Amino acid sequence: MAEYVITIDGPSASGKTSVSRDVANAFGWRWVSTGAFYRGLAVVALKEKIDFDDESALVRLANSPIWSVEMNPNETTVMYSGQRINPEIALDDTGMYASKISQYPLVRQALLPLQRACANKNHVLIAEGRDCGTVVFPNALIKIYLTASSDSRAQRRSIENTGSFEMVRTLQEERDRSDEERTHAPLQIPDGAQVIDSSTMNRDQVVDNAKRLIRQEFSRRKLDALIR
Ligand code: C5P
Repeated sequence: MAEYVITIDGPSASGKTSVSRDVANAFGWRWVSTGAFYRGLAVVALKEKIDFDDESALVRLANSPIWSVEMNPNETTVMYSGQRINPEIALDDTGMYASKISQYPLVRQALLPLQRACANKNHVLIAEGRDCGTVVFPNALIKIYLTASSDSRAQRRSIENTGSFEMVRTLQEERDRSDEERTHAPLQIPDGAQVIDSSTMNRDQVVDNAKRLIRQEFSRRKLDALIR
């Protein structure tokens, strides 16, 4: 069996994580949130008191066995010194730190093989992030770009995280800008990607849309047997 990868990229709070996880679980496939690698490294760097301006030290940490990332059906788990640190990787501040370290080309390069290792010949994988369709898995079978207006994304995030709408939107726009404007692997719509704008859809509608699109493509390629 060849490697079958589906990528879902998009800006912060576009619903990539929940949608990609729901689709993977519905079809009986593996799933990884590549943001967990950047978030995990950021949290571990804080704990290890690594200077965020020291790219070499961050690269050494990226390659250190002190931390690891594991795929699970409901979360991409980050382990540090034998402890699960997912509550911390989910914080908004961690997203900002992750965005800062994600600017470093050598950090990205160090995390790339770890992300690619999530694909495996015996399983279908859905990978979500910012550069999954452009850099991590450029030969993915299906590429989806999930987006929504800045206001609707901030609205969802402020309800989830109970922050004020204005504050959430400002931080979100700052992070989007830094992800879109960075020199290495910026957030962009991959060539050939199918764009889903979820501004006026609820989560179930987005999941149904993505499932329909994937079923059509698998059927066209006669791969229906891979869907549970
Ligand atoms: O998607 P998530 O919010 O978990 O990502 C956190 C940060 O990690 C993003 O803002 C981005 O800077 C970085 N990231 C990235 N490439 C990916 C996934 C995440 O640069 N494939």
